Amino acid sequence: MTCIFCQIVAHELPADIVYEDKELAVFKDINPDAPVHLLIVPKRHFDSLNSLDEETANIAAKMFITAKRMAEAQGIQSGYRIMINTGREAGQVIRHLHMHLMGGWGRKPGRR
Ligand code: 5GP
Ligand code: ZN
Repeated sequence: MTCIFCQIVAHELPADIVYEDKELAVFKDINPDAPVHLLIVPKRHFDSLNSLDEETANIAAKMFITAKRMAEAQGIQSGYRIMINTGREAGQVIRHLHMHLMGGWGRKPGRR
């Protein structure tokens, strides 16, 4: 089974990684929908949010706090949006749990 996001977090496929630690990696969305559009991706494979339970809920907590830190690091803490598409009907295309962090709408063009 090949999973693109598993390959990216394992550095087997290229991506613009802006942060990583033992548990997760953060990289730029290849097709951004906002001036700042990052993906927060656990290194362990979960198909979606539906795969988490009480035992693995710490992953979700880590994703949220990393989103907040990344918003600060990107200078967008005054306004950002996070999104977790879950299931095909909701537009989940990549079947590896990930959180979208989007913001930067108030920025001047060219300062991405
Ligand atoms: P989903 O619709 O599954 O919630 O979001 C998947 C996101 O991953 C999309 O915004 C898409 O642009 C992004 N994406 C898909 N393939 C790649 C890739 O190979 N590299 C990067 N950096 N982003 C990707
Ligand atoms: Zn995966």
